[in-house]
Amino acid sequence: MKALVINCGSSSLKYQLFDMADESVLAKGLVERIGLPGSVLIHRPGDSKVEIQEEIPNHDKAISLVLRALTDAGHGVVKNLAEIGCVGHRVVHGGETFSGSVAITPAVMEALKANIELAPLHNPPNIMGIEACAKLMPNTPQAGVFDTAFHQTMPAEAYIYALPYEYYERYKVRRYGFHGTSHRFVSQRAAELLGAPDAKIITCHLGNGASVAAVKGGKSVDTSMGLTPLEGLAMGTRSGDIDPAILEFIMGKEGLTIGEMSGVLNKKSGVLGISGVSSDFRDIETAADGGNQRAKLALDRFAYAVRKYIGAYAAAMDGADAIVFTAGLGENSAPMRAAICAGLTFLGIELEPEKNSRRGEEIEITKAGSKTRVFVIPTNEELVIARDTVAIAEKAEQ
Ligand code: AMP
Repeated sequence: MKALVINCGSSSLKYQLFDMADESVLAKGLVERIGLPGSVLIHRPGDSKVEIQEEIPNHDKAISLVLRALTDAGHGVVKNLAEIGCVGHRVVHGGETFSGSVAITPAVMEALKANIELAPLHNPPNIMGIEACAKLMPNTPQAGVFDTAFHQTMPAEAYIYALPYEYYERYKVRRYGFHGTSHRFVSQRAAELLGAPDAKIITCHLGNGASVAAVKGGKSVDTSMGLTPLEGLAMGTRSGDIDPAILEFIMGKEGLTIGEMSGVLNKKSGVLGISGVSSDFRDIETAADGGNQRAKLALDRFAYAVRKYIGAYAAAMDGADAIVFTAGLGENSAPMRAAICAGLTFLGIELEPEKNSRRGEEIEITKAGSKTRVFVIPTNEELVIARDTVAIAEKAEQ
């Protein structure tokens, strides 16, 4: 079966078409600037690249262009849409409704719409993508795969905020966690590598967005993001955990509205805010190497926060068999992995520098005999979405 994976953002759309016979990627691409001047589809069948510049006012048009590119006589990879057996969508917020991937049905669409208030920026484009596919491929099964679903196994003591309980009852204000597809994928792989399905694993998804999860026996028991992806680690531009009283203080000093303050926390903080250099860790590492002290402070602060979460989650699970690094920074930055692990000798961690210097490959980076083993495992959220979608489509056929 061929599975199309779609990830719709507010003004962008990413896609990958898999041949699930061997899980190879037949084509992938990106639509940028949906609803804005200068919109473009960049389509990559195999190793080639085709740029299609056209007015793309909405997600309907974006999806129809993607489907046209996939079936085009010249740069297409399938003869017609009937060859695509199923479509899987990344959905950011499943709230408490979804603890696993689901087939898209009218009832599921209703529930997705009910969850919009929890993710007003992310869920509407996800829904638009599903509706556009339903219109253009009405007979092709579709599935929703949620960023939050894997963390629905967190116990109440991990997800409840110490706020008046009515806010949870009335508005579902609680911790949900994100990057669930990635934490699930790399923790399952680590459990396989350890040969221990019951293992206690701490997964560190360190990219532009960053989160840590505690996974025990294949289930997420805690994670660093909360009601929204703003909680937890400092990230590229997000503050992560701060004293909530800072909001009122800075708003008063700087005369900011709540919307402006939210913009500061989401877009101007994190390692960008501390370093003043960039939200991209490569730029910050280069600046720090060149002697920029604020860049060095941003990196030190980031590594320190990850280490603290690892320590907290080792306590939450009464130990850790393995730590996994994944995503852009986690897979590629040997200095960051070394900085994080430098303070983890109490867990019996000793890195093997030569192994840690490798980039972007699956590898154990601890010395033989380390009590807690450390792995780099490249994540592949699109493949997880494709696998879940095929499983759902095949079940529906039976
Ligand atoms: P992601 O969100 O998973 O695509 O990760 C993006 C982040 O990974 C960016 O902030 C990059 O700076 C970081 N990254 C990617 N490659 C490297 C590298 N070789 N060294 C340091 N950071 C990297």
